[in-house]
Parts: sequence; structure tokens; C-alpha cells
Amino acid sequence: MANFTRRNFMSFAAGGTMMLAAGEVLAHDNDTKAYPFKADFPGPHDPLREQENKDLVNPPATDNGTLPNLRYSFSDAHIRRSSGGWTRQVTNRELGVSKTIAGVDMRLNAGGIRELHWHKEGEWAFMTYGHARVTAFDTEGGWFIDDISAGDLWYFPPGIPHSIQGIGNDGCEFLLAFDDGGFDEDSTFLLSDWFKHIPPEVLAKNFNVPVSTFAHLPSPKDEYIFAGKLPGNVASESPKKGKKSTQKFTHRMMQQSPIISAGGEVRITDSSNFPVSKTIAAALVEIAPGGMRELHWHPNNDEWQYYLEGQGRMGVFASSGQARTFDYRAGDVGYVPFAMGHYIENTGETPLRFLELFKSDYYADISLNQWLASTPVELVKQHLNLDDNFMSALSANKNPVVKNIP
Ligand code: MN
Ligand code: MN
Repeated sequence: MANFTRRNFMSFAAGGTMMLAAGEVLAHDNDTKAYPFKADFPGPHDPLREQENKDLVNPPATDNGTLPNLRYSFSDAHIRRSSGGWTRQVTNRELGVSKTIAGVDMRLNAGGIRELHWHKEGEWAFMTYGHARVTAFDTEGGWFIDDISAGDLWYFPPGIPHSIQGIGNDGCEFLLAFDDGGFDEDSTFLLSDWFKHIPPEVLAKNFNVPVSTFAHLPSPKDEYIFAGKLPGNVASESPKKGKKSTQKFTHRMMQQSPIISAGGEVRITDSSNFPVSKTIAAALVEIAPGGMRELHWHPNNDEWQYYLEGQGRMGVFASSGQARTFDYRAGDVGYVPFAMGHYIENTGETPLRFLELFKSDYYADISLNQWLASTPVELVKQHLNLDDNFMSALSANKNPVVKNIP
């Protein structure tokens, strides 16, 4: 094994597991009984991928039948590089099942500008690193400008024009979520592109200036994300013309008080506390080591996930005896089709953090535990042959992140 491969391999195998011989796949950590089968591969195979997808290679005995693929890593996506940063996307072209939402991961260097543009889709974003300056213009003729940092988010409704710029020492990185799985970040309405496709005489007439004003328009291929200079503060850069928007397009998600649960915490942002966000509802879930996002489903739409930190596994029940388990790591996109039951377990030694996003104006879930606690006792007991201990352990209070406390 070459040094490069060995180093990667060891980092994948870190966290209590050990180096594997070629062809060998580990049983589920700490629970070999549930995973008695060990796959062997005399033919060609990729041990690195198998190590990352333990629950596909060596599935729990409860998995059965066919489900669509519910995982795609941004690390498997093409990167488009520009002078001011880079971008990559996971849409329904990469993850076929993701019809409701498309994701984009974007890096803007300090001063780097995602050019003025708009699109048909609503745009929701979560800052994963650094600092950004965003601008927008609303339908009442109001301008918006704000500086945001890691843990903050924004939402621009369909058709609302906007820009983003990396500021501070090292710019920013953020996750964008668009309310259409077919969205293409390379097909937005770019200001530079439109200017290049309007006769100069029409531009001159529109802006009441000489035609020569437009002799040096840039090529749109050099714009999109271009290197710019760091702006002054918001007060000095705010437009002197026009009026300030009465709408708020940014939100401090991590400054919300979380719902504290036995195994972690949850923050929910939807149109009830961020009114402009009419097409995307979000929950940021943090699961402590040993904790689990409880068994639940969503009554409003598909769930699109972005894994921010740590590692976990999600089991999904698709009805008709079908169930499958997928493994996730930071930078992965996960997906749960509408109404399918699921849980997410932290399988690592560090916190697991991920976003649940829904194409909806409200967040909603149904807790299996809470439902059964709120159903007549004799009905549940007869139904599943369960005893009084089980019935008394049920909780009518919502505990989104659970943990076994011995
Ligand atoms: Mn945009
Ligand atoms: Mn969920």
C-alpha cells in the first residue's frame, strides 16, 4: 500500500476501529451480534468506500428491499473555480431522489464577490465558516445590506436580486439550499450576462447616458465569482439613494435558544421566527456521542440534510417491509422521501451536527414515542404485544434527541 493510501486509510479507520486487511469489512462497532454477516470480496473493490459505507456493505438484519440512494458527498462533486472562490453542487443530477431541494457549497475568498444575480428559486443559506456581506433589493424598492458570520443564515425569495461577498481575514464558506432539486447554480440570471446581451443603444436609452459608457463591459465568464476589494463597514457602504428595506433577509440561527433534549439539542427556524423564509423550513440538530435523533417522520414534505460535523447513520423505513441504513459524514447530503420513518444515530466520539431542511413554510415532525404515549394503552399493548414497562416508559413530551441513560 502506498504511503498516501495508507495515511488516508488510517484516518478513515480512526475512532476505535482498526486497520483492515484488503477484502475485510468491520462489523458494526460495539455490536457484532446485530451484524453477524461479514462480506468478503475476492474480486475488485474499494476498501475506503466500504469503510465509509459500513451499513450498506454489512447491513443490519432489519434492512430489506429496495430504496433509492439517500446519500451523496459534496466531495464527489465537480468544483468550479473562479478568481474569487469556488463552488460545487449536489442537485437531483447527482442525487436523483432529491426533487425538492438542491444544495450548493460555496467558498468566497476575502473580497471575493458572487456577482449580482437572481433566479427563479428561493435561496436559503447557512454560513459554515468566516464572514460575509450580503445585499438584496426588495419588491417595495427597499435595499438590504448586512454582515453575517458562521452560524447565521439568509433567505432570498424567488426573483429577488442579491450579492454575497467574502469579508474579514479569510472570507467565508456557506451552504446554499434552493427550493427546487433541478436548480443549476450555473444557470442563474447574472448581471454581467444581461449587460452583454442588450444592444448598447438600448442600455444608453435605459440609463440616459452615452453609448460609449458601455465600451468596457467584462466578459460574464470572468465574473460569476470574481476577486474584489474588501468593502468598508455597512454604514459607509449603505446606498445613499433609495430607502432601507423593511424586510429582514438574514437571521442569527445559532443565537436562538435551543430545545434541550437528553441526547443533544435542536434549533428550528421557519417562517414563524424568520418570516421572509416562505419556502424553506430548517432544523439544526446536534447529537452528543451515544445520542440519537429519535424515531419520527415529517407530515409536510421530503427532508434534505446537510451534515456539518461528525459521523452518523440513518435508518429509513419506506413501508411495505422496505428499510435501509446509510452512513453519513461531514460534507454529505442526506435525503428522506416524504413521510418515511427514520432515526439518526451518532456513531462517532464527537458531536454529530446536521441540518434538516424542508421545502415548506413550517417545520413539523411526528414523534413515534409521543404518538404511542398519546394513544389508548390497551390499544398499543395488544397491537405490539408490549408490556406495562414499555407503556410507562413512553413520554408524551417531545424529546427530539434521545440517549440511553443506564
Ligand atoms: Mn443566489
Ligand atoms: Mn427527520
